[in-house]
Amino acid sequence: MTDGTARFDREGAQRMDRIAKTVFAPVYPVIAGQILERCGIARGRCVDIGSGSGSLAIALAGISGLAITLLDSSPDMLSVAAENLRETGFSDRCTLLKADVHNIPLPDASVDLVVSRGSVFFWDDLPPAFAEIYRILAPGGRTYIGGGFGSASLRDAIAAEMIRENPEWQTFREKNLGPENRERIGRVLAELGVPHRIVNDGSGFWIMLEKEQ
Ligand code: SAM
Repeated sequence: MTDGTARFDREGAQRMDRIAKTVFAPVYPVIAGQILERCGIARGRCVDIGSGSGSLAIALAGISGLAITLLDSSPDMLSVAAENLRETGFSDRCTLLKADVHNIPLPDASVDLVVSRGSVFFWDDLPPAFAEIYRILAPGGRTYIGGGFGSASLRDAIAAEMIRENPEWQTFREKNLGPENRERIGRVLAELGVPHRIVNDGSGFWIMLEKEQ
């Protein structure tokens, strides 16, 4: 849902929710499965940063025992997410937190898994954002942060549909997931000195930090 017309006010939240439930709908269960497989954390506390209307958190809650905090800086996104949690029956295991990734109001070492899809491209200042994420990770905690569509075939099918609606979408996607941006993010992580691995394949571009035990 990373497109050049992204807005996070009430109208933008409703538009994103509509796209998440239609064109993007098949992506979230695939990514949720990849998160569990690649991170190996299915219990404990998880935070979804830039959760939007909650599709990834809901898919993840459905296949794990994670208690998930949906963190987003947009109150309009969170109010749509609240409705979606109620409708899917996950309100008891998922909580909402209006906050900015650059200043996360959670204690040090309190989170086992941080996930985030399609949000990192909007963060203003990556070094403090990643420092905050590393700070809240518990020993042994991991992250799955980035953007993508789960597989090359899903990506191509979605791109064809999105470009029909908005020809600029492709340019925006290439900018977000292209080599320049990937290298920029890689440099930030190297300078911070946090242990990490980057996945860059058909599933998308994903930053996997791991905090030492
Ligand atoms: N993760 C969702 C998905 O994949 O459907 C939503 C992605 S949407 C393109 C990006 C989200 O990141 C928006 O909900 C926006 O409000 C949130 N966001 C942008 N900047 C943020 C920041 N600095 N801190 C927290 N959330 C942020």
